[in-house]
Amino acid sequence: MATRIFLRFFSFLLASFIGAACCLYAQSDNYPANYAKEPRFKALLYYSENVEEAHKQFAKDAIDFFTRLTEGDGYILETTSSLKEYDYENLKEFNTIIAVNISPSDPEERKLFEKYMENGGGWLGFHAAGYNDANTGWPWFNEFLGCGNFYCNNWPPQPALVDVDISDSPVTKNLPVSFVTPETEWYQWNPSPRENPNVEVLLSLSPKNYPFGLKDVIFYGDFPVVWRNSNYRMIYLNYGHGDRCFSDATQNLLTINAFRYVVSQSPDGDPFLK
Ligand code: ZN
Repeated sequence: MATRIFLRFFSFLLASFIGAACCLYAQSDNYPANYAKEPRFKALLYYSENVEEAHKQFAKDAIDFFTRLTEGDGYILETTSSLKEYDYENLKEFNTIIAVNISPSDPEERKLFEKYMENGGGWLGFHAAGYNDANTGWPWFNEFLGCGNFYCNNWPPQPALVDVDISDSPVTKNLPVSFVTPETEWYQWNPSPRENPNVEVLLSLSPKNYPFGLKDVIFYGDFPVVWRNSNYRMIYLNYGHGDRCFSDATQNLLTINAFRYVVSQSPDGDPFLK
């Protein structure tokens, strides 16, 4: 009897020891994954339906793409067509605004956006979200983008060879040095953002594309297509026209890298380390 009791006690001790060891292992710093216990951050996708058809198509695909990225409740995505649906206190709860086809156009919305960005807000802007010209009348937006106005574009939309300018950035991580993108309309800017010392140009349209276009043909010129202005937590991506922009794994990786980078630079800390 005494032997049986001892064996039971020994088994209990062994089971406790194994259980404790498993717990310790699970909590170890060496555990390779950090599963989200709750959504890590909030993002606000900002778009309009009152734009040209190809920019509406892009917005529809962008909503699908960024919604798929929330799978498993990794982050919360809301969509809006007016930043004025939020007051500043609510707007600043969003880690990042994903601007897919518009920029703020009325004075109140512009002031709200300026305040958000000047106080550490994040912006991932595609294609028409950065469009401006002589009629835009918003000097702050030029300073924010880090370049002059829209200058010219190719037509029709088409694929292009793009070169990675900075290969050791988290934004260009695991991209090839050059790759061919899906078809899109490309905007050229004047003066180029490369002339701004605060701007880091991450990818450019390769000069090998010239002459570029069939109807509207671009013959030369510096042509940055992805950049960040270090004065703000922002990245601009030049593509975003039509329904092909999420059809390519390499460009999708660039999109995710850029989104992840902007989100991770939050002044409240990197939510992926939470
Ligand atoms: Zn366009």
